[in-house]
Amino acid sequence: MTIQGKTAIITGSNSGIGLGVARELAKVGANVVLNSFTDRDEDHALAEEIGREFGVTARYIKADMSKGDECRALIEKAGSCDILVNNAGIQHVAAIDEFPRAKWDAIIAINLSSAFHTTAAALPVMRAAGWGRVINIASAHGLTASPYKSAYVAAKHGVVGLTKVTALETAEEPITCNAICPGYVLTPLVEAQIPDTMEKYGMDRETVIREVLLDRQPSKQFATVEELGGTCVFLASSAANQITGTTISVDGGWTAL
Ligand code: NAD
Repeated sequence: MTIQGKTAIITGSNSGIGLGVARELAKVGANVVLNSFTDRDEDHALAEEIGREFGVTARYIKADMSKGDECRALIEKAGSCDILVNNAGIQHVAAIDEFPRAKWDAIIAINLSSAFHTTAAALPVMRAAGWGRVINIASAHGLTASPYKSAYVAAKHGVVGLTKVTALETAEEPITCNAICPGYVLTPLVEAQIPDTMEKYGMDRETVIREVLLDRQPSKQFATVEELGGTCVFLASSAANQITGTTISVDGGWTAL
């Protein structure tokens, strides 16, 4: 089964890892659906650019992944869904007793519940097509924890659990579900954590990157969005037919510690 001509929906893909994944899937011939909660000219322009560059059909569909109905509507509006990459995610860093309730709710909704809703809507479409791939972008924080990231760590552990259940419920079908667990990737989500961390520890930017962000990443290098996209391409390929219900760490050795 080839990826060429398949439809890939990537949630949260007007930036960072999602955009990188969309580009790598388009590079091997997938038609891609980009998504975020905004509806700006530049969002649609991103899709047009990918379509032109790789000669595939690329569309941008607005849907707010914090809302279950919009998650499900995204799959419906796309019309087909062979490869679903659940990638949308946000972060907030605070101690549990100071963690704003609204941030907890938003992180659980966007980072975890959205994957439940899109998967629920996509599985019947994949079954009708006789093939499917669900790829959940979890995190090293789906396998280990860090202080001050309660909602994020809880959501990502939840995503790993959801991945296993999805895999078991589709195990006898030509559908797989896996989670990718990236370590640190220098994207806007990570960039946004740097100023707070600089202030919290009284460190300069380079020290925060080396001693805080990459402290637990033995390679001392960020993973790249292209590497994450390449991992999705592998999971969508026939080489991965029997890989289901598992996690693939792309974390420079973090979870080997
Ligand atoms: P990013 O901020 O660059 O991208 C997040 C994407 O999600 C953006 O496209 C944003 O528009 C979208 N998004 C946010 N709220 C949304 C909503 N309500 N509805 C729809 N889309 C929404 O961040 P990133 O680093 O590329 O993160 C992508 C995923 O990778 C997240 O799930 C994140 O947890 C995970 N991840 C990132 C890292 C890292 O180091 N960057 C590491 C591990 C896991």
